[in-house]
Amino acid sequence: MHELSTAVSIVETVTRVAEANNVKKILEINVEIGQFTFINPEQLLFLFQIAAEKTPLSESKLNIKIVPGKLHCQDCGYSGDAVSEEDQKKAHLLPLVGFTARCPVCNSNNTDIIGGRELNIKNIKAEVSEDNP
Ligand SMILES: [Zn+2]
Repeated sequence: MHELSTAVSIVETVTRVAEANNVKKILEINVEIGQFTFINPEQLLFLFQIAAEKTPLSESKLNIKIVPGKLHCQDCGYSGDAVSEEDQKKAHLLPLVGFTARCPVCNSNNTDIIGGRELNIKNIKAEVSEDNP
């Protein structure tokens, strides 16, 4: 399961950062996920909560932003966002997951995916506690 390995890898990465910085509690994590990872955000959130149990992330909030993938169209030569700006507004980003690799200009599916397979942890909000338990 794609979402499970992604959830585990987010938890592991952030736990490592937390330990390195002596942070006991992570409050919030912002991630950006490329459209062509085809990750289901709801499933990822659910699995994240399970993976985060008994880690510094156990009470943290995971914010997921799906960013548009990039395409190159073999038929009309278009290179750029796989979803037109108009459609991005309509989709409110999360349902971008449902979009396929079709050219937004000529609707051809003779396209190469040139971006949108990445997952970036943009930032982490942590609680810094000075008092030791
Ligand atoms: Zn095209």
